[in-house]
Amino acid sequence: MKYSLVNNKKVEAFPKGRGICICCQGETVSKCGSKIINHWAHKNLKHCDNWWDNETEWHRQWKSYFPTDWQEIVHFDDKSGEKHIADVKTDSGFILEFQNSPIPLDELKLRESFYKKMIWIVNAKKFEKNFHILGKLPNPNDSNFQDLAFWPTKKDNKGRSFWKYSENPDWEKEIDDIVMYRSHNFSKIEKYVEKSYIGHHLFEWKKPRYVWFQSNTDVFLDFGDKYLWKLMKYGQNKVLSVKKINKDYFIERAKGKNKT
Ligand SMILES: [Zn+2]
Repeated sequence: MKYSLVNNKKVEAFPKGRGICICCQGETVSKCGSKIINHWAHKNLKHCDNWWDNETEWHRQWKSYFPTDWQEIVHFDDKSGEKHIADVKTDSGFILEFQNSPIPLDELKLRESFYKKMIWIVNAKKFEKNFHILGKLPNPNDSNFQDLAFWPTKKDNKGRSFWKYSENPDWEKEIDDIVMYRSHNFSKIEKYVEKSYIGHHLFEWKKPRYVWFQSNTDVFLDFGDKYLWKLMKYGQNKVLSVKKINKDYFIERAKGKNKT
């Protein structure tokens, strides 16, 4: 953990520090050194929060974007008595969870139902090589494109194709998709898509982590640059897509401010 209580104050680990765990009130000792991230550990090995992910620089970086008194907040369920440490809890009660390691589906569901108002930020650096963001899509609410269903394809260099709902009135009934559809050449609409674009893209994910498609809340992928990519289902055919979001803008929004 980044913080422990020392003289009732939430402080970061310092050499030879002794503290109290913010969650279980157990004794903690500081772990500091050049080869590790300074942190607090329980003096006696105990499992205080079984959802706790080993902290990385990536976690620390994300926490540091937010005020100290929003970081590592104990969330308590009155009925069950269950307690967990949320990575960040904003002053409007929204929880941000920074997930570095793969998470099993049952744990994802448990966390979502425990925190209720939460979003995920996923360290996508780990599967960056398997994740390819394809060409742009139009604004999903743009009335000019409502008849078009987009789909990834390997034939096009930007990985996009589309078919028309009006040409395939039974599209929802068809199980054996695409084969039936007359696919159109994307180049015909390219410049209109460019004008309508507000950040949406198709993507290709080899060895996908399916768990993230089963979240009931927002999932943002962080590839370590200045953008986040929000996982989405796009259009009537609900094709998987991502939306590009400026990271600074996202952080300011999470803090309750709009960036000027
Ligand atoms: Zn503890």
